[in-house]
Amino acid sequence: MFKKILIANRGEIACRVAATARRLGVKTVAVYSDADASAKHVAACDEAVHIGGSAPKESYLRWEAILAAAQATGAQAIHPGYGFLSENEDFANACAAAGLVFIGPPASAIKDMGLKAESKRLMEQAQVPLVPGYHGANQDPALLQAEADRIGYPVLIKASAGGGGKGMRAVDKSEDFAAALASCKREAINSFGDDAVLIEKYVQRPRHIEIQVFGDTHGHCVYLFERDCSVQRRHQKVLEEAPAPGMTPELRARMGEAAVAAARAVNYVGAGTVEFIVEQPGGYEHPEQMKFYFMEMNTRLQVEHPVTEAITGLDLVEWQLRVASGEPLPLTQDQLQIAGHAIEARICAENPDNQFLPATGTLHVYRKPAHSSFQRADVRVDDGVREGDTISPFYDSMVAKLIVHGDTREQALARLDEALAQTHIVGLATNVQFLRHVVRSDAFAQAQLDTALIQREQAVLFQQQPVSLPLAVAAAVAQTLVQERATQGQDPFSHTDGWRSHGVFTRRFAFDDGDAHLPVTLAYLHDGALRLTVGAGEGAVTGPLTFQAQAPTEAGAWALHVAFAGDSTRATVHMQGERAHVFTPRGARQVVEVDLLAHSGDSGAEGGRLTAPMPGKVVSFAVQAGDKVSKGQPLAVMEAMKMEHTIAAPADGEVVELLYAPGDQVAEGAELLKLASA
Ligand code: ADP
Ligand code: ADP
Ligand code: MG
Repeated sequence: MFKKILIANRGEIACRVAATARRLGVKTVAVYSDADASAKHVAACDEAVHIGGSAPKESYLRWEAILAAAQATGAQAIHPGYGFLSENEDFANACAAAGLVFIGPPASAIKDMGLKAESKRLMEQAQVPLVPGYHGANQDPALLQAEADRIGYPVLIKASAGGGGKGMRAVDKSEDFAAALASCKREAINSFGDDAVLIEKYVQRPRHIEIQVFGDTHGHCVYLFERDCSVQRRHQKVLEEAPAPGMTPELRARMGEAAVAAARAVNYVGAGTVEFIVEQPGGYEHPEQMKFYFMEMNTRLQVEHPVTEAITGLDLVEWQLRVASGEPLPLTQDQLQIAGHAIEARICAENPDNQFLPATGTLHVYRKPAHSSFQRADVRVDDGVREGDTISPFYDSMVAKLIVHGDTREQALARLDEALAQTHIVGLATNVQFLRHVVRSDAFAQAQLDTALIQREQAVLFQQQPVSLPLAVAAAVAQTLVQERATQGQDPFSHTDGWRSHGVFTRRFAFDDGDAHLPVTLAYLHDGALRLTVGAGEGAVTGPLTFQAQAPTEAGAWALHVAFAGDSTRATVHMQGERAHVFTPRGARQVVEVDLLAHSGDSGAEGGRLTAPMPGKVVSFAVQAGDKVSKGQPLAVMEAMKMEHTIAAPADGEVVELLYAPGDQVAEGAELLKLASA
């Protein structure tokens, strides 16, 4: 075993690798960028070396700096994590040339599986089933069109060099093919520097089921069963589980053997994943009719590897280190077994109700459910951030992974729901509440899985408010009263009874629920009771307000029990300025408690200003000064957090001036152009 390794990554995966290394007595070296100088992964390692600026190409992608750091610290091997340099053949070769072990497959296997078209040719030879399609070298548009017509629509055009859900276009009919091909090639050349594409039949209602494989340098290769990663948005995974619901032992063995054949075809060593697209001709009710086709092989440890760890009880990073140091695989195929069911949820900084637009910001409050980092823990949290850290625009938007394990899928689901309820994040938008809607949806609970689940179930997944507005307001008012009592030195634990015994006295609050202003009045009655009225006129809700408070479990937030207008709940309320984040067992909701004095001087509308929704880079403008534009028309494209965002006109008007040029880096809220409203 190695004495010291360098971890050429950041965030949760760097922390994850460091934890296993520590357990095995292997010393670790972290590398970090400017933005990560005080990041959790730096603290998780024994030593740390600064390697450059915040942008990945100035730090985590600079191999000379990383190799120099390994040599200066005496590390014997480099773990690349996922993303960044993990699937870079040249980097794997450079490690070997520098006398360092690359903890991953041989460079030749990375190369063979690196391009989707090349890998399909190899898989064809190894008799691994492929999606009907075209993956030839001839890229003549007329030939591609003829191939698509032959395959039959719908088809999927894929960038051969693509990854991360980018560079794909679904085409429904022959007439649309040429335009989709051109746009796919443009994205492919911009994102991957290679515009070769392949064409596949677009499988209807497919599942994404992948097989974890492991090879060693002694000629052994095994499969560690499957993961179902069908729940996706933008072709990117959101929830992953193992085993796959409905999987039969017979199909598992066939898929496992096909995956091992794929790995053997490229002399695979280490951890890898063979991804299959699975057709369900018999629908969800007949999983035994599932047909699988090779999609691609990821030649690295995958984000969702913990669900495999949970059902096998194994530590896959330990296996990686053992294999890389020359040891044989710890277990044979016959010794591997599945126990229970595991699900992983990716908690991301993003706004599900706004097309999953990534968000940046500071984790003012970041509270996790009770958990442990043990492989088979009921609840495990893998993350690379701490309370107070920021999610910056330089890296991806994943905040944490929540992994649950239970004896059955039902138990795992219940644990996940509870763990999500106990995950309190304040300071930036996240998908925590959205994940709860998915987990609680009938479709997911009944395992009606396919890659369109989120789209198909949108009516129950988006714009849902699990807590009524009156109850959320009641919780926020209760929090304000408890806080006041505490600061005034009164006993905060007393009940509302006897709170004020003299005369009726009314207090006014103003809340804001998105765009609607909401008057709220609180009457202190003769008998000491409180009467709350939320709203005015016909829609007003009124009734007694009662609450109990227990010692703050989280900084500044009391554990409340609130009852109002026939509804009651436990609640924890975090105030972030005027915004009250109300967390309850049934879900979270935000309301804004407007400070009437502070806003007395505010003016009205902002007019036609156009600002960057997040820090990032201007890619292009679709308009120039003098152009007349109409509401909703695309004006500019920005790139941030590995995604492109289109900025659309908020109203009809005329472009007065462009304030930036393509390529410029802009701050959040920066005005991109001036628009005179029509
Ligand atoms: P997976 O199937 O494991 O999700 P992807 O190809 O989508 O694989 O990417 C793997 C992961 O690598 C992503 O989920 C992302 O978290 C990480 N990743 C890729 N590029 C970067 C990057 N530039 N910065 C940080 N993480 C990255
Ligand atoms: P990436 O390298 O971006 O991960 P993949 O080839 O693995 O690209 O495909 C990503 C996702 O796109 C899959 O998980 C699946 O949801 C969808 N997809 C890929 N190929 C097909 C296909 N032929 N038919 C339908 N959906 C597909
Ligand atoms: Mg993939």
